[in-house]
Amino acid sequence: MPALNFIRFQGAVPRCQYYTLSEYQGFLYIIPEDLKGARRYDPFADMEALLLDVVRAGGQVAACDSFFEYAIAHDMFPLRDAGFWLHGDFFAKHPDEARPVLDALMAFVERYGLPAWEVQSMAYADYPARYAPRLMSRRHDPDREGTEETRYLIEYELMKRSCQSKGSLPVCTLAILLLDLYLRFLEGTERGDFFLRNSEWMIHYEHEKTPRLNAQVFDLLSCINLAHAFLVSGEGKAVRQCKHCGKFFIAEDLRAEYCSPRCRGAYNSKMTRKRVKERKLREGQ
Ligand SMILES: [Zn+2]
Repeated sequence: MPALNFIRFQGAVPRCQYYTLSEYQGFLYIIPEDLKGARRYDPFADMEALLLDVVRAGGQVAACDSFFEYAIAHDMFPLRDAGFWLHGDFFAKHPDEARPVLDALMAFVERYGLPAWEVQSMAYADYPARYAPRLMSRRHDPDREGTEETRYLIEYELMKRSCQSKGSLPVCTLAILLLDLYLRFLEGTERGDFFLRNSEWMIHYEHEKTPRLNAQVFDLLSCINLAHAFLVSGEGKAVRQCKHCGKFFIAEDLRAEYCSPRCRGAYNSKMTRKRVKERKLREGQ
């Protein structure tokens, strides 16, 4: 295989000026108001800000207990967007409980646009680590999904096709996509590979020079995955959440736990006070 000289990836993701939430046949959708007026922007222009916004929005989904309680109550193992076509949309049914998630998702979409809803693939995510003890006892039973029940998948695929022409996306799909990114980046369920979708490649060459490969990426999700891959493997950095103040930050290495020396100090003295208190309680008994 001859050598290629990689020069760069350039993002060209479409973004509209306005997006609205709209309910249709029991599902809540995010709809661009002026699809024809969409402009393209480059998400790589500020990759660290992009990744922090991804985990902030995904973190709101991960924090929404009623979302996971709903999914567990309906035996949604694994968690996938198609499952809501079988059991009903959480976001349309419980808009009040979902409010913080909806606000976070809309703020994200207004800034970065909508990822594409992929044909013939579903959006999957794990449950956050805090649910692991409860999920241990439950196992996915493929026999339970009878042939009769798979009719919902046809409706799911039909809705997907109709959404693609309008550029819209169900809220539940976006929530699962962002949750998956959040868990992969922060809870270490990192797979280390992803598909590059909707991109165009161009080889640029001149006499007696190594050919250059340039790629333009039109898909938001691919841009986010690329940005994370550059951050982690190229720069050795990581997206982290501060153990003390809860703020998301870009860490210089994988093991960092605090956003600042101040938070490290505050956390350590808090733990020392806790240990002293516990020892006094034990000695008092
Ligand atoms: Zn902090």
